[in-house]
Amino acid sequence: MAIIAEYIWIDGTKPTRKLRSKTKIIHTEPTEAQLDDTGEFTLSYFPGWQFDGSSTSQAEGGSSDCLLQPVRIYPDPTRGPDAFIVLCEVFDAQGAPHSSNARAKLRAVLDAGANKEDAWFGFEQEYTMYDGSRPLGFPSERRFPAAQGPYYCGVGADEVYGRDLVEEHMTACIEAGLLIQGVNAEVMPGQWEFQMGGPDGDALKASDDLWIGRWLLYRIGEDFGISSTLDPKPVPGDWNGAGMHTNFSTASMRAPGGMKVILEGIERISVRINEHLEAYGTGYEMRLTGLHETCRYDEFKYGVSDRTASIRIPANVEEDGYGYLEDRRPNANADPYDVATVLLKSVCDLH
Ligand code: ADP
Ligand code: MN
Ligand code: MN
Ligand code: MN
Repeated sequence: MAIIAEYIWIDGTKPTRKLRSKTKIIHTEPTEAQLDDTGEFTLSYFPGWQFDGSSTSQAEGGSSDCLLQPVRIYPDPTRGPDAFIVLCEVFDAQGAPHSSNARAKLRAVLDAGANKEDAWFGFEQEYTMYDGSRPLGFPSERRFPAAQGPYYCGVGADEVYGRDLVEEHMTACIEAGLLIQGVNAEVMPGQWEFQMGGPDGDALKASDDLWIGRWLLYRIGEDFGISSTLDPKPVPGDWNGAGMHTNFSTASMRAPGGMKVILEGIERISVRINEHLEAYGTGYEMRLTGLHETCRYDEFKYGVSDRTASIRIPANVEEDGYGYLEDRRPNANADPYDVATVLLKSVCDLH
C-alpha cells in the first residue's frame, strides 16, 4: 500500500510567514492502534519528519534541520482516496517549538486558562486573485476597471472574475472537512472572501482550517493559472483593501445576558490597541485608513452594526442580547494563531 501525505507547515519568512509543503509516501500498513473505531486513519499513523530550515528562514545552513510534528490530518481532495493533508508544527533540532511556531504560543494561552472559556472564532478571509501582475478583471496596461460598486456579491461576466476557482476551492474545503461557512465576491473586482470557523470553531480548529483553506486556494489556483495574494492593500487609491474580520465569542458571550460580557471584552481589548495591531498583519496602516469600511488604525471605536468601527456588534446580537463581536481590524495577511492568541489574552485577562 502507499499513502500519499502532503506535510504542510508555516515558514519563517518576515514580515509575513508563508506556507510550505512536501510529499511523503508512507508504505507501512497501519496498526490497529493507528486506526479509529470506524477504521479511519488517525494522527498517530503519520510519523514526524524534517526539512531544510535554511531554505525557509528557520535555521542556518550549518545546523539546518527543523522538525515537523503532525498536529491535524485531513483527507486531501486534490489527490483523492488514500491521500492526506498533514498539518504540522515546526520544532527546532532540540525539540523545542521553533520561534516561528505561532500555534505553540496559542496552545500555551489555551492551557493557561483560555480553554475554559470555550471560545469560537469565525475568520472572514479576503484575498485577491491575480492574472500575472494584475488583479483578475483589471484590464491590461495602466487602465482600470469601472469604479467599485457593482462587484460585491455581483453576478455576470462583466462584474465577477474567477468564480470557477472559487467554486472548486469551496468544494475542496468541504471535502477536506474544513469548517467553511460561505464564500462571496468582494468590493474590488478579483477580490473574494471565504469564511472559516464560526460555531464550534475553537481557536485551534478554526485557525488550522484557515491555513489549510489558504493552502488549497494556492494549490488549486495552480491548475487555473491564477495566484491569490493576501496583500492587505493590493491596489492603492480608491480600491478596497483585503481584511480578515475575526468573529469571536466565549461561552458566556453566547449565553443570555452575554451582551454585558461582550462589552467587558471590548473594554479589555480597547486598552491594548498596539498589542492587537501587532498581531493583525503587516501593512495595517495602508488598509486601516478610515475609508473603505475601516476605522483608522490609531483610533478605536465600537458600535452596533457599524462597519466604520474597529469592533462591530452585529445588529442581531444586540437584538438577542447575546452572541459575538466582530474585530474588523485584522488584515488578510494576519496569522490566525496570532489573532486568536491576542484576543484570548485580552478577553480572558491573561497578561
Ligand atoms: P459579514 O460579512 O456580515 O461581516 P460573514 O457572514 O461573512 O459576516 O461572517 C460572519 C462569521 O461569523 C461567519 O463565519 C460565522 O460562522 C461567524 N460566527 C457566527 N456566530 C459566531 C459566534 N458566536 N462566534 C464566532 N463566530 C461566529
Ligand atoms: Mn463577510
Ligand atoms: Mn468581506
Ligand atoms: Mn465582516
